[in-house]
Amino acid sequence: MRGFHQDAQGDWVAELDCGHQQHVRHQPPFTLRPWVTTAEGRQARLGQTLDCPPCERSELPAGYIAYRRVSFRADSIPEALLRQHDTKPGVWAILEVASGELDFVELLDGGEHQTRLRAGERAVIRPGIVHRVAPLGDVELSIEFWRRSAPGTQA
Ligand SMILES: [Zn+2]
Repeated sequence: MRGFHQDAQGDWVAELDCGHQQHVRHQPPFTLRPWVTTAEGRQARLGQTLDCPPCERSELPAGYIAYRRVSFRADSIPEALLRQHDTKPGVWAILEVASGELDFVELLDGGEHQTRLRAGERAVIRPGIVHRVAPLGDVELSIEFWRRSAPGTQA
């Protein structure tokens, strides 16, 4: 969590590092989050993580836009992409294979999770997920980077 705001009904909404938002209501007796009702309580939760269902479904956050796109062939893929790395905080990316195939390898829960992508297929790269690409022979790929449409305007 990197911040909070109240919705039109006055319910608290957590702003997650991934770009998604999630209600964190205090509604006794069913949902108990007394900490959210005080500034100190909210402040103390900053930096903590919440499970994020939209992330698990690889859904890009609302209000994000593509701001950069790069394309490579097997022989021009930067070293950095072949080694384990992640995107900048809050940045999502879409990896798309134009021709050939590659393995997209994510480090999840301490283990490698490998997805083979063929021509026309894509993978969503979530912020903070360590990953690498492993080309299989000649391959053409592009990576599109997405971020919040108006950086710096978030309260
Ligand atoms: Zn998320």
